[in-house]
Amino acid sequence: MNDFRSKLVRTIAPYTAGEQLNDKRYVKLNTNENPYAPSPKAIEALHSFPADSLKLYPPLEMRALREAIAAAEGVAPQNVFCGNGSDEILALCFPAFFDADGQGAAFADITYSFYSVFCSFFHIPYTLLPLEEDFSLDLAKLTALPAQGILVANPNAPTGIGIPLDEIRPFVAQNKGRIVILDEAYMPFFNQSAVPLTEEYDNLLVVKTFSKGYSLAGMRCGYAIGNRALIEGLERCRDCFNSYPVDRVCQVVCAAAIADGAYYAEKNAAVVAERERLHAALSRRGFTVLPSKSNFVFAKHAALAGRTVYEELRARGVLVRHFAKPRIADFCRITVGSCAQNDALLAALDDILRT
Ligand SMILES: *Cc1c(COP(=O)(O)O)cnc(C)c1O
Repeated sequence: MNDFRSKLVRTIAPYTAGEQLNDKRYVKLNTNENPYAPSPKAIEALHSFPADSLKLYPPLEMRALREAIAAAEGVAPQNVFCGNGSDEILALCFPAFFDADGQGAAFADITYSFYSVFCSFFHIPYTLLPLEEDFSLDLAKLTALPAQGILVANPNAPTGIGIPLDEIRPFVAQNKGRIVILDEAYMPFFNQSAVPLTEEYDNLLVVKTFSKGYSLAGMRCGYAIGNRALIEGLERCRDCFNSYPVDRVCQVVCAAAIADGAYYAEKNAAVVAERERLHAALSRRGFTVLPSKSNFVFAKHAALAGRTVYEELRARGVLVRHFAKPRIADFCRITVGSCAQNDALLAALDDILRT
């Protein structure tokens, strides 16, 4: 039989998402979704959506959504780019800001694994900087690497470690000759966003998402904030691929969500409080837990292999994420759930540790 696939598609290793077993039997703590419902205002916007308008293409300018994001972030709408999830925006960054025959991208060896997949997909070379022994990222070492641009997830995934804004600022300044892309998917649980720096530094692009902090993973919407020239670069890439990445329903629901900052501040503070409770409870059970600034914890047990913890939890109806990769195979990444979900996780762990 003929294989009609390109060489690229035959050989690339695509990103593997966490299992989406939305079976009620499972306590799902494996893909960093928010345990709380979206804002009542977002739900109301969905219920009152004029379904007959779906016969029309969505507004190209996405004016209402970009204005709502701009108002929440304290920037101008022309500095906002929206996409079908921040994964799509991160993907567009590679053709937008990197050349196949350039110095390539630089990022940590342990970070969001989509970055290297995108590099392979767009034929962009990349250099990995090993994280330190304690899984922190040495920004000076990253700055010293030859690269056309740099990507940093802050807080990082899957470690959860966050870099304070007062360290990000000099890092962006020292790299002013090249683009710095900050992936702030987990910033709602750290509150040290670099968005305010985008006015001052034309080399900084900050990418955010509605999936984690706004409880809208199922909606698929993300946004980027940066200098107008960077935004225009993303727009050109988008218009070479899909001019309408954000549908009408999504534009309306996400605009309503981001306008309800007070609701999310309260819910995300509750997630942070649960995160600290989980950290302490796991430590008491013999886990080493990295200091998380996100909505998950990365933990390794003194006696049990990471794979074993994952499998034994799964057998007891609790899903967490395990990465069979060098340096992190002993760890599991556990999403901070609701109080009841976290209690179920801890009860399952007690059962595993008893046997
Ligand atoms: C979840 C996540 C994203 C993006 O998610 P979308 O749902 O595509 O917006 C981006 N970066 C990191 C590090 C993430 O964990």
